[in-house]
Amino acid sequence: MMDILAIALKALAVLLVADFITGFFHWLEDSYWSPETPVLGKWIVVPNLAHHKSGQDFLKKSWFESSWDLLIIGIVTLGIAYFTKSLSWEVWMFVILVVNANQIHKWAHITRYTNKPKIIGLLQKMYILQRTEHHGQHHRKPNNSHYCTVTNMLNPILDKLHFWRGMEYLMGLKWLKAKL
Ligand SMILES: [Zn+2]
Ligand SMILES: [Zn+2]
Repeated sequence: MMDILAIALKALAVLLVADFITGFFHWLEDSYWSPETPVLGKWIVVPNLAHHKSGQDFLKKSWFESSWDLLIIGIVTLGIAYFTKSLSWEVWMFVILVVNANQIHKWAHITRYTNKPKIIGLLQKMYILQRTEHHGQHHRKPNNSHYCTVTNMLNPILDKLHFWRGMEYLMGLKWLKAKL
């Protein structure tokens, strides 16, 4: 019994870490990257800005079109874990979640009543995957909250703590230091 509980808690922790890391990069992209950012601008920022304007359009893209960049990150992460002999189920679960973060984001643009396969709607109903109304709050102007798109769990905590505004303050300090 304790083993099952320990595994469930570990799985929850992995889910939250994946949600936080993908949310962190989403915040970085929304706040600091622009279409002029080298390499990333054209491939990542332009589609991201288009998505803020029209939430449904990216649903027309295939899994690969939405996830190729995360797939590269996932393969590199698995490679590092393999060569450092730290490949575990937790690493696999983390990589699977990160590689599918954009897909989970897409599912959050389809309601839990209409998502297919039905298991997705069920996971949204159970608050394991992010729900449509929750993600909708990121699409409201000025688009500066609810950066995490995997679960419903982290955003209320991070936004209440003003975590992202604190990070922006720290980034400002860093840039100020670099200028001195
Ligand atoms: Zn955004
Ligand atoms: Zn969205």
